[in-house]
Amino acid sequence: MQKLLIVVPCYNEEEVLPTTFKTMSELVGKMIKEQLITDTSRVHFVDDGSTDKTWELISKAAKENILFEASKLSRNFGHQGAILAGMYDNDADLYCTIDADLQDDPNCIIEMVEKINQGNDIVYGVRKKRNSDTFFKRFTAQGFYKIMSWLGVKIIYNHADFRMMSKRAVEKLKQFPERNLFLRAVVPLVGFKSDMVYYDRTPRTAGQTKYPLKKMLAFAWDGVSSFSIVPLRLVTLVGFLISFLGACFVFKILLNYNAHGAVSGWASTVTLITVFSGVQLISLGIIGEYIAKIFMEVKQRPLYIVEEKVK
Ligand code: UDP
Ligand code: MG
Repeated sequence: MQKLLIVVPCYNEEEVLPTTFKTMSELVGKMIKEQLITDTSRVHFVDDGSTDKTWELISKAAKENILFEASKLSRNFGHQGAILAGMYDNDADLYCTIDADLQDDPNCIIEMVEKINQGNDIVYGVRKKRNSDTFFKRFTAQGFYKIMSWLGVKIIYNHADFRMMSKRAVEKLKQFPERNLFLRAVVPLVGFKSDMVYYDRTPRTAGQTKYPLKKMLAFAWDGVSSFSIVPLRLVTLVGFLISFLGACFVFKILLNYNAHGAVSGWASTVTLITVFSGVQLISLGIIGEYIAKIFMEVKQRPLYIVEEKVK
């Protein structure tokens, strides 16, 4: 039997937490009773700098329920930072990460433990359907996976951050020094034997999504630029293409050398200038994005800061 730690990142989740407490307490209680996990197994809630009553709720729950623990980050570090704080800062044999809104089916955790016992080090939770999401969310999310694979980033289709990892896998994950941790692309790089469990994603039981379009786009671009150099290659490609077009243009001008006309050439000149300036600015922007990434990496700032813990 192994000690399981279920890490639950929470950012302004006061509406949904009461339900989450109930579900998690029942689930872990049941698993302990059935001797799937040790009785030292816990659910660890991480408050990611919430501005609502999240910390009050989880710290109180941690004091009242022996199965619960809580830690508070010093500010909002983002979903990935909160997950890492839970996994890196607490000791266990098995780590499972699941969102506070319980959109991912907690009952899969039982199946995950079984798969670990069959010799896997990582078990990915994969969504079967996305019926509960709005059309927009489904469309953008699926587009994201498509674009990522097109850009050569290997991520598991329809797997978010619901997964279980052995202590050994988490120790190896710690050896990835990058600050820009896009976990769903880094975890597969850890290797080891892995498997998947499938579930239906249900609607949020309460509260709002903490990932509006703007954050989603930022997250997607982070994923792309941390794992793919295709955009930089694209810049080079566009450069070649435009140069070729330019050469054709010069050729045409030479052919028309004897043509008459007063201010002929004005339109084409202006067009060329605007097109080239645009392409150059875009190219510089993309290169700048990667330099910004390097800038963030060399600083090696902490991924999370734990302010307080209740055990
Ligand atoms: N979350 C977090 N920090 C943030 C944003 C979100 O810890 O800055 C948590 C949030 O509380 C939830 C999980 O990450 O447990 C996923 O967020 P959400 O459900 O809002 O995203 P969605 O499922 O809509 O993509
Ligand atoms: Mg959610």
